Amino acid sequence: MSTPATFDSHNPATGELFATYRNTSADEVNEAVAKAHLAGQLWGASSFAARKSLLLQWAKLLTKNIDEMAALICSETGKPTSDAILEITLAIEHVAWAAKHAEQVLGTQRRPSGLLMLNMKSRVERSPYGVVGVIGPWNYPIFTPMGSIGYALAAGNAVVFKPSEYTPGIGQWLADSFAEISHIPNLFICIPGLADTGRALTQSAVGKIAFTGSTATAKKVAAAAAERMTPTVLECGGKDAVIVADDANISRAAEFALWSAMSNAGQTCIGAERVYVVESVADRFLDEISAMARNIRASSDGNYGPATMPSQIGVIRSHVLDAQSHGATFLVGGPESVGDRFVQPIIMTNVAENSTAMTEETFGPTLAINRVANISEAIAKANASRYGLGASVWSRRNGNKIASQLQCGMVSVNSVIAFAAVASVPFGGVKDSGNGRIHGPEGLMEFTYPRTVVSESFRIPIAFTTFKRTKFVDKFIRKAIELLH
Ligand code: NDP
Repeated sequence: MSTPATFDSHNPATGELFATYRNTSADEVNEAVAKAHLAGQLWGASSFAARKSLLLQWAKLLTKNIDEMAALICSETGKPTSDAILEITLAIEHVAWAAKHAEQVLGTQRRPSGLLMLNMKSRVERSPYGVVGVIGPWNYPIFTPMGSIGYALAAGNAVVFKPSEYTPGIGQWLADSFAEISHIPNLFICIPGLADTGRALTQSAVGKIAFTGSTATAKKVAAAAAERMTPTVLECGGKDAVIVADDANISRAAEFALWSAMSNAGQTCIGAERVYVVESVADRFLDEISAMARNIRASSDGNYGPATMPSQIGVIRSHVLDAQSHGATFLVGGPESVGDRFVQPIIMTNVAENSTAMTEETFGPTLAINRVANISEAIAKANASRYGLGASVWSRRNGNKIASQLQCGMVSVNSVIAFAAVASVPFGGVKDSGNGRIHGPEGLMEFTYPRTVVSESFRIPIAFTTFKRTKFVDKFIRKAIELLH
């Protein structure tokens, strides 16, 4: 099958054609990576101060153009303007944090050489990979890829970015805005395209791949990257659980869990999909969240918009029907809430733990709420998932204690999703939710590799690393280690 030269993007609320984009071919991907390598050499050799200055200038430019970016995101994803603006502001915060902290995190560190190597000086430098290939999803088309783009640039790499085929416009806009202020051409290149463009990037000469998207695609990305031993950071899907203890503020837990599950039409990797509520407070929680959910509407000007990716509608419907066939009770909405483009809120309870609504990522405005006898059962059920991205815990007294027992990368206590907005902490998951981290110091380090440099500071008459090593030296080493240990 020949590769199409262009592809169309549509407004998901109306289905109308929004724009047509070039479908970047494999040859063009390789050309882009080669150009980015040259740019990366200049950028990597520049000072932390110079990089900080350019990235802060970019943060300023993005801030000036929030409305233009928000309009583009709304047209491509169908999300409400206020959600688009929130996403953009968080992305800008991350760029600025990475710019300001890169030197402190990535600067050369001295390390002690130890008694046996007393005459050596040891240091660890962090070196950028050169070019980082970033592959992004459509659900938060600026916030999610920026967690890689901003940090990779701050760490001294060039970036070649393949946005989702549903949101190429905002990807191109980001690269164009950076080019406006960058004195180094091709430092951040956008390569719009379909899945083959992403595949070509994973097979290209990039130094690292930063992927955000589904677990199924992440496995393909990791396999392709392994052919060249290209390292990857993989940010994938989730099935995030909310745990509500008997000492929780029930009204707030219900309000925040509802938003976490339904906002952005449920298309949030770290959004609530399952709730485990302790029996003694379950009735109150279910009543409160159901009452609030009845006031939430999906529409072009509602609380949230359409499913951005048309094929997701089929996934949502199948999970809801599977829950129904396994005996779930619908408190708000039901299978009929799944429309052609919009999905109205669905709250279910008594959902079988082995139904797809509990085991697979639904990525829609649905919430499965099950009762548990106690917190131990809640923790065990939350951990029984093949995913391990984020979680939320509601308890006045034991939030941190519960959080520490969860098998996932991030937990909000008496809050939801808060960790995504804190630039100084790492973001990422375990199990099928991926590996590696973006954001925070870990996110900066992810886009560099350590180079160890050990050099002689003064000469001693005892040499280990030579064929001239004497019996005396052997004895000395033996004695020294016996004394030390
Ligand atoms: P996909 O996995 O479908 O696609 C992600 C990106 O990969 C797209 O740009 C896609 O291109 C590209 N791609 C597709 N096939 C290949 C391939 N063989 N090689 C390389 N790249 C390829 O995910 P979605 O876009 O549907 O995003 C939704 C998913 O992302 C959800 O599972 C969600 O949970 C997850 N996600 C995870 C986050 C996290 O940080 N952990 C944050 C946000 C979302 P194209 O669009 O052209 O198919």
